[in-house]
Amino acid sequence: MRGWRRRDLLAAGLALPALALPAAARATSSNGGPRVVIVGGGFGGATAARYLARWSPQLRISLIVGRERYWTCPFSNLVLIGERQLASLEVSHARLEAEGIEVLRRTAVDFDPHHRRLDLDDGSELAWDRLVLAPGIEVMPEAIEGHGVDSVERFPHAWLGGQATSHLARRLQAVPDGGLVAISVPEAPYRCPPGPYERASLFAWWLAQHRPRARLVILDANDRFTKDDLFQAHWQAAHGDQLQWIGRADGGSLRRVDPRRGSLHTDFDDWATDLACVIPPQRAAAIARRAGLDEGRGWCAIDPVTFASRIHPEVHVIGDAAIANPMPKSAFAAASQARVCAAAIATALEGKAPPQALLTNTCYSLLTPETAIAVTGSYRATAQGIEPLPGTTGNSPADASDAERRAEAGHARGWYAAARADAFGD
Ligand SMILES: Cc1cc2nc3c(=O)[nH]c(=O)nc-3n(C[C@H](O)[C@H](O)[C@H](O)COP(=O)(O)OP(=O)(O)OC[C@H]3O[C@@H](n4cnc5c(N)ncnc54)[C@H](O)[C@@H]3O)c2cc1C
Repeated sequence: MRGWRRRDLLAAGLALPALALPAAARATSSNGGPRVVIVGGGFGGATAARYLARWSPQLRISLIVGRERYWTCPFSNLVLIGERQLASLEVSHARLEAEGIEVLRRTAVDFDPHHRRLDLDDGSELAWDRLVLAPGIEVMPEAIEGHGVDSVERFPHAWLGGQATSHLARRLQAVPDGGLVAISVPEAPYRCPPGPYERASLFAWWLAQHRPRARLVILDANDRFTKDDLFQAHWQAAHGDQLQWIGRADGGSLRRVDPRRGSLHTDFDDWATDLACVIPPQRAAAIARRAGLDEGRGWCAIDPVTFASRIHPEVHVIGDAAIANPMPKSAFAAASQARVCAAAIATALEGKAPPQALLTNTCYSLLTPETAIAVTGSYRATAQGIEPLPGTTGNSPADASDAERRAEAGHARGWYAAARADAFGD
């Protein structure tokens, strides 16, 4: 296997297949050698680019990163409460360029799966042999009555990271003592399933220090959520009646907002808030919904062994944009999927069958700046779907000591540093 090192495969959690299957046809491009174009320079896209470059040095790899700067969403909830600087979350793609990956700071606007072309926003066109889409999500505030792009500043979500995080941090600072803060959670699926509850925990921690008479309400369009028993036990013990969670069955679904009054409206109640953080419903970013890739469902169906689209198999979709249940939409999962996808593309271009894929995820959630809980799982991918490996899934223990919760926060910081280094070399 030219260009492959077995220890890299093992490090990525991949094993070579015992039997070779019929070889896939080798792709060719107009420039003479195989070219892989990757759209999106976040955790999924950057990881895919680096692993492909490492495993298949003969490939030409182009990474389309958009025109915006990139700040990681992981750890952005700490920025909201002033426990971390936004600048510390910004990553660059300089290391990828130094490694020979062509980084293009442009936006992909469309692609043609039949002629294998990608259109960029400067009018140029790229030919590709394999296209990998890792564009993340798009939020849909307009799906909520009374809401829209113009009222996002009024009801900030900061669910795409970046400068909006600083705006939400300032809004939290402006909440008066005795005020009401609301967080509304959309119906799943959405980016980072534990993210709203981590945010609620950190908001509650900050309010307890700085606005001790303020209250926090979570209006939830779901009845259950990841690690809910751990979050609920912590909220009850640490915040009592000052933090209220209202699930779907009790009327937690947000029906309407009133931007003029800053109020939220459910089937049963009207909430006059001092700060309402409305996390909108979501779908795959626009480029992943072109060419019928999402079949009108908002998310893209894939073959989990290769992350090839079920609609156009030469196009791969990884990260938040893909349907990869029961994996959550997380940076950890996006990077794991990127390595599996990179291995599948590298082997296909060598005329070989994809390796057996092992997918992994751990989601850490901070309860306070210094304590955390986690959910973890490993998964086997088959053409039929993704299934948890028996004995690998689980949450932090309910009866963990404070020292153990502190150790978990240390693991979270360690994961973040390692994931950044792996994806961006930064
Ligand atoms: C508050 C919060 C906390 C979180 N905490 C964690 C955590 O602790 N752990 C964890 O694992 N996950 C966490 N996540 C989830 C994590 O951020 C996402 O799951 C992850 O970023 C998904 O990676 P991705 O590569 O699919 O998308 P992204 O990281 O969003 O990257 C996509 C990139 O593609 C770009 N793009 C989109 N369209 C185009 C186009 N047409 N052309 C060019 N570029 C384009 C986007 O601008 C973006 O830069 C958190 C999320 C939030 C909101």
